[in-house]
Amino acid sequence: MIIMQTDATREQIARVIKEIKQYGLKADVSKGAYRTVIGLVGDESKVDFAHFATLPGVKGAMMVETPYKLINREYDKLSETGEQRFVVKVGNIEIGGDEPIYMAGPCAVESKEQLVRIAEGVKKAGAHILRGGIFKPRTSVHSFQGLGAGGQEEAREALDWLRDAGNRLEMPVVTEIRGETQVDLVAEYVDLLQIGARNMYDQDLLTKVAKTGKPILYKRHFGAGIEEFLSFTEYIAAEGNKNIILCERGVLPVGKGKSYTRYTLDLSAVPAIQKETYLPVMVDPSHAAGRRDLIFSMSCAAIAAGACGLMIEVHYNPAEALVDGQQMITPDELKDTIDACNRVHSAIGPRRNED
Ligand code: PEP
Ligand code: MN
Repeated sequence: MIIMQTDATREQIARVIKEIKQYGLKADVSKGAYRTVIGLVGDESKVDFAHFATLPGVKGAMMVETPYKLINREYDKLSETGEQRFVVKVGNIEIGGDEPIYMAGPCAVESKEQLVRIAEGVKKAGAHILRGGIFKPRTSVHSFQGLGAGGQEEAREALDWLRDAGNRLEMPVVTEIRGETQVDLVAEYVDLLQIGARNMYDQDLLTKVAKTGKPILYKRHFGAGIEEFLSFTEYIAAEGNKNIILCERGVLPVGKGKSYTRYTLDLSAVPAIQKETYLPVMVDPSHAAGRRDLIFSMSCAAIAAGACGLMIEVHYNPAEALVDGQQMITPDELKDTIDACNRVHSAIGPRRNED
């Protein structure tokens, strides 16, 4: 990491970048309000940091050992951005700002009518962003895999419905990309690209999605530690894309026999991650709990823990949903949940976990 002097010139910064590239590394340039900090991306073992420290305009140069440095809160602080807050813009919605953001919609898009009816319901309930799965990660090959599994044309048709519903209701839209072959197609249609829990470890997918430059909703794997989650997040940032929203969605539950929740919502991950990185952190109570009767309380608890928003699965008639009906709530229940979460948020105040 190279810390420039506050009065470093453009030429001096350019020289540092050029020398970094001569090592075959990439330079991540972070321009703060007062100074520029340059992160080295790649294997730093052969870099002569003492040499960099002597270059004109350089205040200091050092090797940073943490496996995630580009997304590190300390890195952001070094550039002295002051009160400027890191927010991810998705369409006209700011995630990580002062207000909680709610993403809602069906687990899977099943038909145009189903999607439109749910979209209208979640909009009325106060949601900001519309979700809907088109390529579904499923445990069994015999279950409904999402309309995208029907082929390119079916995928386009479903993506069109999502895009149209979003445009009409003025809601940005999000859907999951499950594999590299889906990236270009999905990026044509949606505002926010979701990488699901099962794909948290797929480096090639992370890199390819990052290269689209679009904002990314990145979910923690149910068996991943926080350091692992943040280390893999760095693969996205290393492509120059820091429009990343992290999402806690539950870790594997312990204990044998009857399980009372689908996963265990790790709410301590929210403040723990926020202390490490400036990236916004949200929570998905739906997949974590796997039960609709727990969504209200887990949502309130997530906002109390400092989450910048929630992703919640919704259906007007959960019993008829092809996927995850047991954890879906109705638009009316979503409205109750959002209203309560907003009250919790007002009571707690924003930006609690950042120092
Ligand atoms: C989803 O959000 O549709 C989903 C499958 O979630 P996860 O990747 O967290 O299981
Ligand atoms: Mn689901």
